[in-house]
Amino acid sequence: MSIKLGCIADDFTGATDLANNLVQAGMRVLQAIGIPSGPLPVDVDAVVIALKSRTEATDVAVSETLEGLRWLQEQGAQQIYFKYCSTFDSTAQGNIGPVTEALMDALGTDFTIATPAFPDNNRTVFKGYLFVGDVLLHESGMRNHPLTPMTDSNLVRVMQSQCHRKVGLIDYSDVSRGVEAIRRRMQALRAEGVSIAIVDAVSNDDLLSIGEAVKDLSLVTAGSGVAIGLPQNFNLSANNQAAALPAAQGYQAIVSGSCSVATNNQVAAFIRAGYQAFALDPVQIASGKDVANTMLERILPALAQGPVLVYSSSDPQTVSQVQSQFGAAHIGAQVEATIADIAVGMVHAGVGQLIVAGGETSGACVKALGITQMQIGPQIDPGVPWCYALTGVDGGKGVHITLKSGNFGSEDFFIKAFSRIA
Ligand code: ADP
Repeated sequence: MSIKLGCIADDFTGATDLANNLVQAGMRVLQAIGIPSGPLPVDVDAVVIALKSRTEATDVAVSETLEGLRWLQEQGAQQIYFKYCSTFDSTAQGNIGPVTEALMDALGTDFTIATPAFPDNNRTVFKGYLFVGDVLLHESGMRNHPLTPMTDSNLVRVMQSQCHRKVGLIDYSDVSRGVEAIRRRMQALRAEGVSIAIVDAVSNDDLLSIGEAVKDLSLVTAGSGVAIGLPQNFNLSANNQAAALPAAQGYQAIVSGSCSVATNNQVAAFIRAGYQAFALDPVQIASGKDVANTMLERILPALAQGPVLVYSSSDPQTVSQVQSQFGAAHIGAQVEATIADIAVGMVHAGVGQLIVAGGETSGACVKALGITQMQIGPQIDPGVPWCYALTGVDGGKGVHITLKSGNFGSEDFFIKAFSRIA
C-alpha cells in the first residue's frame, strides 16, 4: 500500500477540513491524530497527519513536522502538503515560515507556493493581500486573536518576516490566465531567486488552475482550498467511492458540550422533534457527584428506543453564571471529562454511530475513546464529514463518529446526520 499525497496539518479541525476537501475531490483519506506509530492500516490515497504545531514553540513544531514527513515518505507519498489556517494564523516568528523552510530543506526543493485562499469559506487573496469576507485580514476579528493576532494583511510581508528564503508573488494577472501563465511566473520567480511564492486566488477556478500548475512541486503549502485541485493530478476525480465507509451499525447517540448558537438551535430542534434528550447539570458536575455513571444508568436502557442526546449545551446567560461561580476553565474541563466518560460508556454499551458537538468536547471524547486514526466519509454539512474509527472500547467493531465544531451545521443536523449513513 502506498499513498499519493502526504499532508501535515498544524491543528486538528484544520486537518479534518483538509481531509474533507480531498474526499470531496475524489481521494480516499485517512486522518491521523498525531504521527502514526506503525505502517498504514488501510488502503487510501492520502493521509492527513493532525499536529498541534500552530501554536507550539517553533523548534517543537519543526521537529514534529519533520517526523511526520518521514512517516509520510515511508508510506510512499509522492507530494507533501503542509496545511495551515485560512487566516494564516502565525506570529512574527512563525510557525508557517520556519516549518515551510524545514520541509523544503528536508525535501531538497528550492521552490514552493503558499496560499491560504479558500473562496468557499470567504478567504480570498488578491495582490498578495488576504481578505476575510469583505475586509482585509487585519481589519477582521483576527486582529485580536489571543494567540496569533494578525495585524498585517500583506502575506508577502508576513511570510518574508518568518523566512530566510526570498518570498515573492504570483498575482492575479497570471493566475486568471490559467495553468501555463502560473507555471511561467513560477519559472520567472525561480530565476529571480524567489523560493516561496504567495499565490492570489479569488475563485475555485483559480484554485483548480493552481492545483494543476503545482503538479511537479514536491511541496505545496496552503490552507485547505488548494486541495480541491490536487486529486486531478493523480488522475482522480470526484466519486462516491472516495467517501465509502464500512456499514454503520449499533445504537445512535449525540453528546453535546457546545454552547454555540448553532448547537443550541440544533439541540432545541432535536428536542422539539420529540427525540430522547438528557440534560447535564454543570452545578452537579462541579459538586463532585458521579454524574457520568448516574446519567449512563438512565441513558443505556433508552438507546434501544432510538437516538439519544446528552447535552450540557446552555444559553449564554446560564453559562456565564456557572462560569463566574466555578471558573470558566475549571467547569469547562469538568464538563468535557463528564461528557467524554459518557461517550465511552455508550460506545462500550453498543453505540456505533456517535455525533459529538463542540471542538474542545470533541478533543476530549476522541482522547477518551482512544481514537488515533479516522477514515473520512460522506459530508453531512460543509466541513463536517462522518468518519469511521477504531476505539479502545468498541470490541473491535469500530464506530462511525462525526465531530462538529460549535457553529457548524444546519438546524436539523442531529436529525439528518444519521440518515446520511443509514
Ligand atoms: P464550541 O465548538 O461550541 O466552542 P467546545 O466544546 O469547544 O464548543 O467548548 C465548549 C466549552 O464549554 C467546553 O469546555 C465545555 O465543557 C464547556 N461547557 C459546556 N456546557 C457548559 C455549561 N453548561 N456551562 C459551562 N461550561 C460549559
